[in-house]
Amino acid sequence: MSNHARRRRTLSPAQSAAASMLGPLDGQRIPGGCDHCNAYQTVSPQAAGVWELLVWHDPICPDYMAMSR
Ligand SMILES: [Zn+2]
Repeated sequence: MSNHARRRRTLSPAQSAAASMLGPLDGQRIPGGCDHCNAYQTVSPQAAGVWELLVWHDPICPDYMAMSR
């Protein structure tokens, strides 16, 4: 049995669904995520079934500036 098959067995159906949806997007820039700038989003796996979604705003984005105050 490969490591991949062993690891998959520990995922719940919801974790497996998230992995199959988000896995192909890992490392890609997904356009959107902010209505006020030319933002993009990235996803990356943090642990089994845990994904980090980041929104990358333009430095001059008013929403981003309001959040970083
Ligand atoms: Zn923005």
